[in-house]
Amino acid sequence: MEGQAELTSEEIQRYSRHLCLAGVGGEGQRRIRSARALVVGLGGLGSPIALYLAAAGVGVLGLADPDVVELSNLQRQIAHGMGSLGMCKVESAARRIRELNPGVRVEALEVKLGRDNAAGLVAGYDVVVDALDSLGDRFILSDACVAAGKHMVHGAVSGWMGEAMTYVPGRGPCYRCVFGGDATAGASGAGSEDGAEDSGTLAPERAGVLSSAPGVIGAIEATEVLKMITGTGEPLAGRLLLWDGMRMRFDQIEVKADPACWACGAR
Ligand SMILES: [Zn+2]
Repeated sequence: MEGQAELTSEEIQRYSRHLCLAGVGGEGQRRIRSARALVVGLGGLGSPIALYLAAAGVGVLGLADPDVVELSNLQRQIAHGMGSLGMCKVESAARRIRELNPGVRVEALEVKLGRDNAAGLVAGYDVVVDALDSLGDRFILSDACVAAGKHMVHGAVSGWMGEAMTYVPGRGPCYRCVFGGDATAGASGAGSEDGAEDSGTLAPERAGVLSSAPGVIGAIEATEVLKMITGTGEPLAGRLLLWDGMRMRFDQIEVKADPACWACGAR
């Protein structure tokens, strides 16, 4: 995954704060440039994730979302603006990213994630970022990542709270291990209307969400992606990070892989 070519003089200027940073440096920056990351969902979480990964210089950024930008999105979905109302979210985000960093190649995928297309979606990427707002879709994405052996960074927000966890193949639990669900969970692609109640997973469309909450969790997800790409630090694997913005507390709970997990367990 290491980039072959040296950084250009423009890249050396643009990424100067990375080039002198422990854990990144020139080799890390070339790895970032060679990386392919997929962000699934271009709403509250996907906005800061996509913008930070683009700013960092991720070479290829896949953006997947079927929705269009609405006025009620702009309270927290900072990749979009008034000029994007009615526009497909992936195209709106792609436009913003091109303005931010033309060195990033954006693959705008105006598609709804489903059981039928999940494997094909994740196949072309090194790392997958869950920026979804539906429990059913998260199971679909997680199962596809487990099957394909891809890292997946999970994040969710609701109200003044959020959570994050990284799935590293062969190390720690997958999303399904932690949030339960047998082979049928998420099979229909049903949204959080069905799933949220029995798992307790955060459901933003029900509870409302603070404008900055997806910024907090999205920045954590982007950090996990950049660590994975550069091979730096300790991933958030085997730990579920919980954020409570009202009390301004971070907590984490240890989570273990479930040997009987339908997706990642020894079947
Ligand atoms: Zn599992």
